[in-house]
Amino acid sequence: MTNKELANLIFPNIDKTIEDYEAIYPEREKKEGARITRFAPSPTGFVHIGNVLQALTDYLLAKNSGGVFYLRNEDTDTKREVESAVLKIMEVLEYLGLTPDEYQYQGKVVGNYGPYVQSERKEIYHAFIKYLIEIDRAYPCFCSSETLDEMRKRQEAKKSQPGYYGAWAKCRDLTNEERAERIKNGEPFVIRFKSMGNPNRKVLFHDPVTGVIEFPENNNDMVIMKSGDLLPTYHFAHVVDDHLMHTTHVVRGQEWLPSVPLHIELFNAFGFKQPEYIHNSLLLKQDGDIRRKISKRKDPEALMAYYMEKGYPKKAVIESLMTILNSNYEEWRNEHPDASYLEFEFDPSKVGTTGALYDLDKLDNISKNIISKMDKNTIYDHVVDYTKKMDPSFYELITKYEDYTIGILNIEREQEKPRKDFACLEDVKKNIWYMYDELFIEPTYEWMKITEKEEIIRIVDTYMEKYFTEGDDKETWFSKVKEMAGQLGYAMNMKEYKQNPEAYLGNVADISTVLRVTFTSKNQTPDLYEILNLLGKERMLKRIKQMKEMI
Ligand code: GLU
Repeated sequence: MTNKELANLIFPNIDKTIEDYEAIYPEREKKEGARITRFAPSPTGFVHIGNVLQALTDYLLAKNSGGVFYLRNEDTDTKREVESAVLKIMEVLEYLGLTPDEYQYQGKVVGNYGPYVQSERKEIYHAFIKYLIEIDRAYPCFCSSETLDEMRKRQEAKKSQPGYYGAWAKCRDLTNEERAERIKNGEPFVIRFKSMGNPNRKVLFHDPVTGVIEFPENNNDMVIMKSGDLLPTYHFAHVVDDHLMHTTHVVRGQEWLPSVPLHIELFNAFGFKQPEYIHNSLLLKQDGDIRRKISKRKDPEALMAYYMEKGYPKKAVIESLMTILNSNYEEWRNEHPDASYLEFEFDPSKVGTTGALYDLDKLDNISKNIISKMDKNTIYDHVVDYTKKMDPSFYELITKYEDYTIGILNIEREQEKPRKDFACLEDVKKNIWYMYDELFIEPTYEWMKITEKEEIIRIVDTYMEKYFTEGDDKETWFSKVKEMAGQLGYAMNMKEYKQNPEAYLGNVADISTVLRVTFTSKNQTPDLYEILNLLGKERMLKRIKQMKEMI
């Protein structure tokens, strides 16, 4: 029985050839040097920050060369929930502004190289596998999982190289007649690649990150098609897809590095040109004295959902990842403070090879800076978008009092050195809730030095009766508070107070703290003058009454 007959027996309905598919998916029209990249996650239901780093690298490579960035769903492990997972991936990409040029989701296919979902490409893979069987580079394997387990154990005991090769590869040398017989008897089988490699020979691989790496050749007859759902494995599927979709650069995790010799052999078996592989560094977390891999089980920040739930602006997430991606990014950023990150020329040789430290404090700093530079309307719009999804009751409140909220958000903003108190949009409510009567219910007053009820009341009442005038400018306001301090037996400034503390009940700062705590319950807030201006007399009186009842 010829290989061709065997191939026909296994795939009787596959009549398209590799050439047919190459005609359907011709070379892309692109300008010289344009890169075609893809983000190819397995739809697991969550998006790891390491995947985001990959997608960002892909996006950057494509966009700064005038190329194409596409999304491919590698769902050959069908046990997983695909549709909702794809939605999450698209949400993440859109949130970060890394929208793919070609993709498929919710029944919509955008791009000429689809389907972009592997489980829908089965026939294509089968045509390629059929070809490998015809040229004697693939064969059916009938070994059961028990047989393979037992083989693994024996290999372990003998300290032999694990895998399906040499004398261990029981089905490799069956005759086609034997194969056909067993197939006709309904025995389940997988398809294995027939490796011609020899681990005593070396294969050279040019990795743009690490330079040239030398590997022993692959000699493992890896499974390329599973039994049951007849879907290919990642190793095989990505070869076919990256060939037909004309991918020029593959950015993937370092865990794939050991599979490179197999991938080289697979590309060579077809005579296809391999894309460039860029293996991204692992993201590490400083945990006490050690640095360990950031883990989705232990570290909430390992998943992109964390950043979206907290409301980090996309620019902040991207900036922090860019600093990880290339060691010269920060220097470039300092020289080009206002440029888009897309103008940065990514250099694979400047990717860390030993793992990159992922630092949340750094993200917070970057983010605080970015948020502090937004004008009042921009931050308001961000807070509205965020709370609409994440905190509907606060959303109601801020949109009900739109101008008031914009005023609050503008305290110490739109100035040369703006305040940097929001690292993410979740921080906004934590910092401004007390401005809303609806939330200012039974507050915990954070009194400082002055705690006696009578003294607090004496100060507040004196202030409202004699020193508060709506519409005072800041200077007048402050000189009045000082004057009041003097009148009530407090030092009008720190210098006086320090020279002779015995002579005073305290100083002007103690007085303004009483006002601050009465009206906001907090002992630290942004500029009190601006806060009082926004609160206005009516609210202030109400809060005094509330305070008197509560303390
Ligand atoms: N589906 C593979 C993964 O999620 C993709 C690796 C690649 O990009 O080639 O790890």
